Amino acid sequence: MFDIIVKGGTLPDGRITDIGIKGNRITAIESIEAEARQVIDASGDLVSPPLVDPHFHLDATQSYGIPRINASGTLLEGIGLWGELKEIMTLEQVRDRALAYCDWAASMGLLAIRSHVDVCDDRLIGVQALLEVKKLVADYIDLQLVAFPQDGLYRSPTALENTIRALDMGVDVVGGIPHFERTMADGAASVRALCEIAAERGLMVDMHCDETDDPMSRHIETLAYETRRLGLQGRVAGSHLTSMHSMDNYYVSKLLPLIQEAEVAAIPNPLINIVLQGRHDTFPKRRGMTRVKEMLAMGITVGFGQDCVLDPWYSLGTADMLDVAFMGLHVGQMTNPDEMRKCFDMVTFESAKIMGLEDFGLRVGAKASLVVLDAGNTIEALRLRPDRLWVIANGKVISRQARNDAQLSLTNRPDSVRRRHSAHLPQT
Ligand SMILES: [Zn+2]
Repeated sequence: MFDIIVKGGTLPDGRITDIGIKGNRITAIESIEAEARQVIDASGDLVSPPLVDPHFHLDATQSYGIPRINASGTLLEGIGLWGELKEIMTLEQVRDRALAYCDWAASMGLLAIRSHVDVCDDRLIGVQALLEVKKLVADYIDLQLVAFPQDGLYRSPTALENTIRALDMGVDVVGGIPHFERTMADGAASVRALCEIAAERGLMVDMHCDETDDPMSRHIETLAYETRRLGLQGRVAGSHLTSMHSMDNYYVSKLLPLIQEAEVAAIPNPLINIVLQGRHDTFPKRRGMTRVKEMLAMGITVGFGQDCVLDPWYSLGTADMLDVAFMGLHVGQMTNPDEMRKCFDMVTFESAKIMGLEDFGLRVGAKASLVVLDAGNTIEALRLRPDRLWVIANGKVISRQARNDAQLSLTNRPDSVRRRHSAHLPQT
């Protein structure tokens, strides 16, 4: 007797099968004849592991327009605006906005989020609020928190002390922002100091790194170097890496092997990178996304992040990681079928790898968390960014959405349309 059987869905790898769930675990992936308390018909639909966001700011989300909007659209005005907001926000406001965002995430099948939390506020309001949120959503969202010294580890007088306080309070990962320090040397020193803190404490590292159009920004080099020096391989990610878009090609040919050997993962944030970068350019305008295809070709792990939704840096967003992958696919020109499938993996499997989620995936023994999408396969999921018909977290249905076909009133045409298309794509 199963608690739930998901019948006849198509998995991301193309297999069509049933999935049996007992308690909070997947206990069978095969044709199942047994009884279940609940049977979900997924025939013709995509059944995927949850969507994963490896880079977000839950302390700032849903604050768009408070106290004003970002008029220039730049990263730097966003940081200034966030500074104004930090002074007036309360713990309750941060908690309530973050929880409201988690409701959106649940409805979208986004069940694992790595969120940076700003520690450059001596009250540590964001840290307290998000630690509380982490507990409140633990049954349905894996929330991992990164201690993020937004105003610079050395540029802000209490940032180092507050980073340690936040880690002592239970924040999971060590963050950083070397390109925001006053000099390149201070940036490099901050990377070194933060990696040493992570090594001492046995923690992962995820730094905002080279989030600039400056082709000479070199902090990813230091991050990869320190990762190897301290034996942190496989536990470190560089977020954004937008300067790599503008770097000299010869230098990149030397840099990518260093990143690969250090097993440093990359987290581009396509929606935000395309919006914030290139703002100082005339034409041609740089697109500002890092070199995704080239890193994948080197065997570097890459996961797409959402970064922002309705906050000082970004005025849109819906908690849909398929929007993120869709933008990444376009900006990265990843349009052949294998590349498109990889874009789906970068908002599921690859990002789960970066977060170290060991019981993630559709396999016997994994956590019983999955999403049924109104699409035939992963490429179609990217094309349609469709409704999430069922979302199951830890063996419980947490969200349902009725299939919502458009009803047509046309002579000699069908009554309804779903915009599906069964293209014959080569399987890998
Ligand atoms: Zn960020």
